[in-house]
Amino acid sequence: MHWNLKVRVIRLWIVPDKFKPEIPYSLEMILQDEKGDRIHASLGKTVIKHFREILYELGVFQMNYFVIAPNIMKFKTTTHKHKLNFTVTTNVKEIQDPSFHMDIFNIRTFDKLTIHHNVDETKLLDVVGHVASYQPIQQIKQGDNNSYFINIVLEDDKLSTTLWGELADQIQPHLTGSAYEPLIVVCQLMKAHKFRENYSVRSCWYQTKIWINPNLPQPTEFKDRLISSCDYKYERLSQTSSQKHHSITDELSKGVVSFTYLSDLSQCYEESSFWIAAKIVCLELDSGWSYLACNNCITKVDTEGTKYYCKKCNSEVKSVIHRYRLQLSVMDGTAFISILLWNKETIQLLGKTAKELKEGLLEDEESSYPTELGDLMEKNFMFKILIKDSNINRKDNVYKVVNFTDDDTLLKEFCHPDLQDSLNKSLFEYEQSYDEDKLFETPIKSSISECGTLITEDVIDLTTKISTKSSKTAGKSTRHEIKDDLNVKQPSNKIRKVIKKEKNT
Ligand SMILES: [Zn+2]
Repeated sequence: MHWNLKVRVIRLWIVPDKFKPEIPYSLEMILQDEKGDRIHASLGKTVIKHFREILYELGVFQMNYFVIAPNIMKFKTTTHKHKLNFTVTTNVKEIQDPSFHMDIFNIRTFDKLTIHHNVDETKLLDVVGHVASYQPIQQIKQGDNNSYFINIVLEDDKLSTTLWGELADQIQPHLTGSAYEPLIVVCQLMKAHKFRENYSVRSCWYQTKIWINPNLPQPTEFKDRLISSCDYKYERLSQTSSQKHHSITDELSKGVVSFTYLSDLSQCYEESSFWIAAKIVCLELDSGWSYLACNNCITKVDTEGTKYYCKKCNSEVKSVIHRYRLQLSVMDGTAFISILLWNKETIQLLGKTAKELKEGLLEDEESSYPTELGDLMEKNFMFKILIKDSNINRKDNVYKVVNFTDDDTLLKEFCHPDLQDSLNKSLFEYEQSYDEDKLFETPIKSSISECGTLITEDVIDLTTKISTKSSKTAGKSTRHEIKDDLNVKQPSNKIRKVIKKEKNT
């Protein structure tokens, strides 16, 4: 197909190489013609050097000779069913045309971001508003890295907007600046996110650009309309507080951390974190549930006769401490995965330290494990898990848990329909396979993880170090689709599902 285009580059960005971020992996553009129709164009890394000097954002170009491909990107930057790939033979010529319009934004009005309209969350959109309020920059752990973001409220109506990383840095100085002019922001190529009948928007890693008080027709028109309406008062921007540890509901509602079903985890190609709602179906005790750690550096110690040796401290260890390393198999109605809880999270889950659990065990019972662990079976939780590089490359099928809750409202909202049955069971029905006195057991405190330091113990996780070691034993394929014949709803199977009971070495 021979296409000859006259287009404006309305957005241009570089996607860095995953392993060498200083090297571009691809150059991506959105092109718009005079009628306002758009198409996405990609330049692979071998092609970039031929065009990098010529192409720039907002320039108008004549272009021809492309490879035309279907537009199958996960997040759609245009609604066009094709995209263009540049080759070395693609022809690009800059042209000067002052009459070529500058309406570069495809602005979604806020009234289209309500429950009355179904927004396709895979289609990126532009929003314009004036910043009404903002929160301080917050940090969150994503994979092995700390990421940061800022929440602002854009007003025409009210739209909660989350900007990540560099975008947060870009907008921050403007928030504390002049109070006498409205701060107009266009967020280009944002992702919509629905939570409880409301939409918010958040930035994407590379695609999104924020335009602050831009001198372009559409935002200028917005500003004029705002100023001429009597609604707008020149008020100083207000900073609203944000709890240092934002609540789980807040994370989910702002899309700071998304919810996912387990079967969709295989679609995740970036280090990130997700909330899941899952039922504990199996204790994975191949490598025990706890380990003896050096009290100095919490690394696992080597036992030599009656002595302990720490590789990290490079010395004999006088004082050791029992720490949790609890691996569980969970399912959510779409798939199974293995999750790993380290010391802090397991203490929060069980309300006891590893030492206390060890003491409750009889010395000579080689194959026993604490009843507290058995009591976890068939229980439903929301877990926040980290997706690390090792998970993405499928070397590791065990996901680290960094937070959890058994909050009923959240579970009811997020559990897959297949898990809902067990939620609706009455406590009596649920517990009837147990001894009678267990009926009076205190349930795990609701949203235990949100109250933070319920039990204080100074812990630092050396997780990466230990998990690479332990993933050898736990590295079996644990992600598999649910088979119909597996009766997962039967709570009386509890203890039999323990695959191996073994005392920790
Ligand atoms: Zn040590």
